[in-house]
Amino acid sequence: MSLQLPELPFAKDALEPHMSANTLDFHHGKHHNAYVGKGNELLADANLDATNLEDLVKESAKIGGALFNNVGQHYNHSFFWNSLSPNGGGAATGDIAAKIDADFGSFDNFKSEFVAGGMGQFGSGWVWLVSDGGTLKIVKSANAETPLTDGMKPILVCDVWEHAYYLDFQNRRPDFLASFLDNLVNWDFANANLSD
Ligand code: MN
Repeated sequence: MSLQLPELPFAKDALEPHMSANTLDFHHGKHHNAYVGKGNELLADANLDATNLEDLVKESAKIGGALFNNVGQHYNHSFFWNSLSPNGGGAATGDIAAKIDADFGSFDNFKSEFVAGGMGQFGSGWVWLVSDGGTLKIVKSANAETPLTDGMKPILVCDVWEHAYYLDFQNRRPDFLASFLDNLVNWDFANANLSD
């Protein structure tokens, strides 16, 4: 199978002022698009046996190197666009609200752990809300790595590579993470992943 750059699930300017159209032009149109292009070049010679993206990520991880980096980044970015919503952010809604209270103690604890995870990722990477055997947890991953290959189920993700926030927030990663939680999180997507 080959990779395809997905359309953004919202208008390019729909997340302003929290995430600018300029950021999305570069992040989706250049960075993500480059992972798709390079990934397809490498997949053409790799002959992997996979019929869906999740399996392709797991098969690519067995090989590692540039192949995994590009396939993993395609998966992570596709998941990230769906983790964002123009009407998002703020208190959790739906079934995940009670699950967050149960597994983190409170919504404020969840927010603190999420920001700490994103800040604790030294250099480029990702901070995730995952279900690990039915329990919600915060995990971070470096570069293109994903908790999918550790047997965990991704629920939400925020990209903490500098290219995700530098045009809008410069070096202020904590402000970007706070804005993601307050203004952008797509709780409908999180609920769909929780019940999947
Ligand atoms: Mn990115």
